[in-house]
Amino acid sequence: MITNKFYEDLDRLIPNPVCELHYTKDYELLLAVMMSAQTTDKRVNMVTDILYKKYPTLEELKNASIEDLIQIIRPIGTFHKKAQNIKMIAKDLLEHSDGKVPNDRAYLESLPGVGRKTTNVVLSILYNVPCIAVDTHVERVSKRIGLANEKDSVLEVEKKLTRKLPKDQLNKLHHQLLLFGRYYCKSRNPECETCPFQDMCKNYKKQQKK
Ligand code: SF4
Repeated sequence: MITNKFYEDLDRLIPNPVCELHYTKDYELLLAVMMSAQTTDKRVNMVTDILYKKYPTLEELKNASIEDLIQIIRPIGTFHKKAQNIKMIAKDLLEHSDGKVPNDRAYLESLPGVGRKTTNVVLSILYNVPCIAVDTHVERVSKRIGLANEKDSVLEVEKKLTRKLPKDQLNKLHHQLLLFGRYYCKSRNPECETCPFQDMCKNYKKQQKK
């Protein structure tokens, strides 16, 4: 059972739960989330700050040379694939919806490099669709504090969070769980001694028994 105190503590620890990726246009968010696979938001921001300045429209991204895109986004890894994805997504958005990112899950998931997690992030931020994206931080925190089981798949974690958390707060809680995982409940050396969730945390209890 999730208490009000849990939500209050999260509000206190993460009072400003927003996406840390840099973007000013809907497609910039979509591309940034696609590029964030297997890297950090910090690295993605480093490359998108350059990329979006050099190619400020979808048309320009569509027509950019693949070699130049690779050069710019090299620091984020899997850059060959991601550079191709950028061009293909830009082309598809221009042809499909006049360059707009539509509120259409099936369409978004059909784009190259865009899976369920990316779609959830984009739909929740752009259209306030009540869904929760389970990334590595959300998964780790959810399992540690018992919102999901250790062996649950990412999809099972998503389903459990969607069922257990208040629907009208899912978007905010997504960012809070993610940022709590990124800055407090880190993979290594989590800040357990000052954590308000010790009582519900399987990881903490395990450590105490050692
Ligand atoms: S007690 Fe430690 S492992 Fe558990 S939720 Fe808090 S920071 Fe994470």
